[in-house]
Amino acid sequence: MRTMVGEGVLGRALERDVVRLGVHDLRDYTSDRHRTVDDVPYGGGPGMVLKAEPFIAAVGDIRSRHGAPDAVALMSPQGRPFSHREALRLSRLRHVVLLCGRYEGVDDRVRDMVATEEISIGDYVLTGGELPAAVVFDAVARFVPGVVGDARSVDDDSFVRGPFDHPHFTRPAELDGHAVPEVLLSGHHGEIRRWRKREALRRTLARRPDLLEGAALDSEDREILEELDGVGEA
Ligand code: SAM
Repeated sequence: MRTMVGEGVLGRALERDVVRLGVHDLRDYTSDRHRTVDDVPYGGGPGMVLKAEPFIAAVGDIRSRHGAPDAVALMSPQGRPFSHREALRLSRLRHVVLLCGRYEGVDDRVRDMVATEEISIGDYVLTGGELPAAVVFDAVARFVPGVVGDARSVDDDSFVRGPFDHPHFTRPAELDGHAVPEVLLSGHHGEIRRWRKREALRRTLARRPDLLEGAALDSEDREILEELDGVGEA
């Protein structure tokens, strides 16, 4: 887990103690000699199931050492779909525990006895909850003030206001016949701003028009959308 989030922006945030990450090994919360965390499923069938007791003991230990968590989220393909909105919600909490399954999953009683919610990162099944937990940690941490150097870059990101972010270009201005749009080289801030807004809306309209429903659009957005009406993505 640390190797997944210990580099770059998140690594620096962890070093600076802007966000904290505690990784807990379920085996440390077992009581038998073999440190058993899994067992065969009742009713038969393939694979193994993670036992409930280590999860209960782990969350109990976290609670006694760090206080009651604001949320205990079980990573599960059956959970609530993770999204920008969910990341923002979790970023406002002080202390979140993410529970990771493996094998066939987790003894279902963990849902009732420990978890306060379940999170899915998409309609596909991964082998374990560590990658989903890293995805959630990354997306949530970006909203914590001080994690991303320039907060404006988070504010302009896709989904924040509703539509996608605008396209980005950097040097060189021309690459094998592919030129950077002229307006971005013009130095005309007003035109650049309008072009970016238009491109963001154009791409959103072409790829994910659903994101525009209920989006926080201003009168300029609406004017651009009217202009774009009937024009497909170039
Ligand atoms: N048998 C389970 C099912 O079909 O619902 C899948 C178990 S999966 C192989 C093992 C663990 O990976 C899960 O307990 C969960 O923690 C994690 N996992 C897999 N896919 C996930 C997803 N899309 N979102 C969140 N967690 C996931």
